[in-house]
Formats: sequence, C-alpha cells, structure tokens
Amino acid sequence: MLQNREAEDAISILYVEDEESVRQGYARALGRMTDRLMLAANGEEGLALYKEHRPDIVISDIRMPVMDGIEMLKQIKEINPDAYFIFTTAHNDSRYMLEALEHQVNAYLQKPVSKNILKSKIEKIAAHILQLRHTEEQQIEIERQKIILQKVLDHEKNLLVVSDFTRVYFANRAFLEHFGVSTIEEFNTLCHDLRDLFLPMPGYLHRHLLKGDQSFYELVQQSDETARVVTMMGAGTEPGAYQINISPIELDLQEAYLISLTDITKFNIQKLSTEKKAYHDTLTGLYNRTKFDMIFGTELERVKRYGVQSSLVLLDIDHFKRFNDTYGHLIGDKVLKALAETISKSIRNTDTFARWGGEEFVLLLPETPLDGAIIMVEKLREKVSEIVLEDAEPITASFGITQLFPDDTPQRAFQRADTALYAAKAAGRNCVKTFRDIGEVTESEGVDLCEV
Ligand code: GH3
Ligand code: MG
Ligand code: MG
Repeated sequence: MLQNREAEDAISILYVEDEESVRQGYARALGRMTDRLMLAANGEEGLALYKEHRPDIVISDIRMPVMDGIEMLKQIKEINPDAYFIFTTAHNDSRYMLEALEHQVNAYLQKPVSKNILKSKIEKIAAHILQLRHTEEQQIEIERQKIILQKVLDHEKNLLVVSDFTRVYFANRAFLEHFGVSTIEEFNTLCHDLRDLFLPMPGYLHRHLLKGDQSFYELVQQSDETARVVTMMGAGTEPGAYQINISPIELDLQEAYLISLTDITKFNIQKLSTEKKAYHDTLTGLYNRTKFDMIFGTELERVKRYGVQSSLVLLDIDHFKRFNDTYGHLIGDKVLKALAETISKSIRNTDTFARWGGEEFVLLLPETPLDGAIIMVEKLREKVSEIVLEDAEPITASFGITQLFPDDTPQRAFQRADTALYAAKAAGRNCVKTFRDIGEVTESEGVDLCEV
C-alpha cells in the first residue's frame, strides 16, 4: 500500500478510462496499491471526482467521449497546477504528447501499459508526494512550535533577549515593553550596544569594569553569582536592579547570547536596607564599627601585599560630656550629625569614615603616608572647629594618626592611633598627634615602625 502510518496519509488515485474492460483490468491492479481508488469513464466524470476528492494522482486515457483527457487535464491543472498526471494512450500521436508535455504530465505511457511499469511510475510519484507531505508537516510543526514559543516567551516576566550585544535578534514582549518600543528593529535603531544600558553604578556590573578585551559574558561569569546584578533605566524614571544571566548560543554559525534580566529591584531594596542596618550607624548614617573592620581588614591586606602607605586616624570630640550636660543630648546628637556630614564632605571617595562609638570616629586614608595624612587631618580639625550650631558653643576634636605597616594587626594599629589620640588630649585637645610624636612604645608594639 502506498501510504504512511495512517489511512488519511494513503495516496489516492483517480483512474479515468472509457473502455470498461480496460478500466476494470487496471482497477484491480491499482486497487492493490491503494484503497483510495476512484474510477471514471470520461473526462467529465473524472473532473467531477477530482473536484470532490482531490486525488493525489490522476491516471487517464486521452481519447474519451464527452470530455477527453487533455481537456480534463487542462481544467484540473487550473484547479491545482501541481496535480500529478499519468497519461495512458493507444495513440502514439505526437500532437497529444506535445500537448501533454506542455501541461507538465508526469508520465506518458503507451497502451497496453505494463502493470509493472505503471506500478513503478506510481510508486515513484507516491514516494515524492509522501516526502513533500512530510516536509510540509514538518514545516507546519515548526511554525506551530514557533508560535507556542513566542507565546511562552511573551508571557515570561523576565526580559529575554538574544543578541551579540551590538544587535538584538530576538526580544520578548517584556523586553520591548520595558524600553517602550514595539519592534526589535526599533530597538536596534535606538540602541547600538546593549552594554550601554547598564548604568555605571557602584555595586553593579557595567562595561567600565571590563578589563582588556574581556567580554561582558566573561565579566558576568567571573562575578560571584549573587553579584550578577545590573542596574538600568526602564520606562519609569527610577533605575531598577536586574539579575543578569547570559548563555552563549550559536545562531547561523554566529556567536550570540541569550540574556535574561530578572527584576530584583524590590529584593535589592530590602537587601540594601538590611545591609544598611547591619553596617550603618543609625544616628549619623556613617559606616559602623562592623563595616569599618571589614574595610580595614582589606586595607591591611593591601598594605601587606603591595606595600601601600595608608594611614589610620582616630577622632574624639573634646569635652563632649560637658557639652551634653550644658546643652542636652539632643543638641549633642545634632553635633555628632553635623560632624559626620562635615568630615564626609571633606574626604576622598576612597577614604572611609565611620563612627567608632559614642563621640569617637575613625578614618581610614588609603594610599596616604603619614605626612600627607597630617596635612589632611589638620584641615579636618579646623573644619570641625568651624561647625556652627544655633544656641551652642562651637566644639573641637582631637586626632590621633598612625601609618599602617606590613606586619600590623588591627589591634596594634588601633593601639598606636589611640595612643596618639591620648597624646593629643594630653597636649591640650583640639590638635593632631601622630604615633611618631610619642617615642616610648616597646618594639613588639611597633616602635621601630613608628619612626617613619
Ligand atoms: P574628652 O575631651 O577627654 O574626650 O572628654 P569627653 O567628655 O568628650 O570624654 P568622655 O569619653 O568622658 O565623654 C564622652 C561623652 O560623649 C559621654 C556622652 O555624654 C557623650 N556621648 C557619647 N555618645 C553620645 C551620643 O550618641 N549622643 C550624645 N549626645 N552624646 C554622646
Ligand atoms: Mg571619648
Ligand atoms: Mg571626648
């Protein structure tokens, strides 16, 4: 049987022959090849059957009463130019042959037609038809899957985009809506580099962090999973935080990436506020001791490893107890805030200023040797003494500085800064002292190191 797996797949044949005995003879042979055989005695009957059943292959005699084979062929080809046709004829008439060829007949067989030849012709055509049907089905299935995929991706809340970063090849609805465009083409005309979307904000991945010829994919992969976050603008006015995932995919032999962006703005704000509580002093908003210890530990590592010259400063407000007793705690708090603000504004971004506790503060000055630190801290001292608060006398503060050394521990460094601060208090307050100014510490506490 000429068929695929299912009955509807079977090849159907229309056989048109006016001579009854011939028709019946071939009908038996054809019936063995398909159970979807239609028989007609002339062109008109054949055409009617064709219109009704659309058989896959038409086998027809040429000379027939009512309507001949050539006329039927013409009319069928008008309905379906790809119809498969086999002519059988007793007339070896070149006129018919030429006309048949003109209408792209698939075979032209001389009567009496050998059943084997007919069978092999039909099988060839059938194989071709089945192959075409299969390809068509595959094509339909691919289209169907494409539609499903597009629907799935359009329902996806994450922003999805396939791109080599300079061109977007695919984007889901969420992505297009996020940027307020309606098509990928529109997006491509507006954005020539996806990496420009990621704002250069501290704590987020962006193109300025790329080293040498590092790709953005490598930057993301090499970042800790929890740090794979970018920030970008969307349709709104506030930038949001997005977790970024990138997987390389091959598109027509071209490298591209599937990039997915998950909006984590909500969680990030929560994370930021938890982090803020854990690492910040609530009164002044400065880093607290916990956070300072972390940063200080890293800086000591840098001093050890790279020999950078950095300094540590301790600051303590003078006679603050008395101030509080005179003006009250609330005014005292205002002073602490004003001092935090004044100093924060006067230091570099790379410096770290933190509240150590009470009215004591700590300042880390990376890449600042002692002499530079003295000049800088002297300016800070002056600024503190210039803080003006209504209804209260000005305050002053004392400062102790030490440079950090490669074999320091945090305790030793703090001990030296504290000793220097104590010396400043002893020297009458409102002044800056360095550990170098005091010369009576044992070697184990770094007396050799203090002589810088
Ligand atoms: P010195 O010049 O020797 O440093 O004298 P001092 O009075 O500043 O020193 P002391 O350490 O004896 O007093 C610290 C005072 O700082 C005690 C307390 O009244 C005040 N203080 C500490 N924390 C706070 C705070 O959070 N708010 C306010 N208003 N005052 C604080
Ligand atoms: Mg104190
Ligand atoms: Mg004090």
